[in-house]
Amino acid sequence: MDCLFCKIVSAQIPANVIHKDALVTAFRDINPQAPTHILIVPNEHIGGAADLTPAHTPTLAALFAAASQLAAAKGLSGYRLVINQGAEAGQSVFHLHLHLLGGRRFAWPPG
Ligand code: 5GP
Ligand code: ZN
Repeated sequence: MDCLFCKIVSAQIPANVIHKDALVTAFRDINPQAPTHILIVPNEHIGGAADLTPAHTPTLAALFAAASQLAAAKGLSGYRLVINQGAEAGQSVFHLHLHLLGGRRFAWPPG
């Protein structure tokens, strides 16, 4: 499958990978929107949040565990976790990814 994040997971395309385990890979966003902007992706291809099923529960747990571990490692006491589902919501890469954003204040409601 011609998927950018599958290629990053399999190291066919370089990225600044900062965490990898059996289920998920985390790397720095190429166009950071905050001082810390990390993408955490499942190693297996899942198109987006709308494609999740109960069988993905361990993968989802690993995504959030990696997020909290990385946030702690970066010394972030508060941070924002974002999943954009669908082009209308801003999804541009159709391989599920959790944005970990921190290091500045965030507005609510989001833009
Ligand atoms: P989305 O808009 O789908 O929620 O988020 C996709 C994210 O992937 C964007 O924040 C974008 O900057 C990031 N991105 C796109 N292409 C690359 C790339 O080749 N490498 C990395 N590290 N991030 C990318
Ligand atoms: Zn993929």
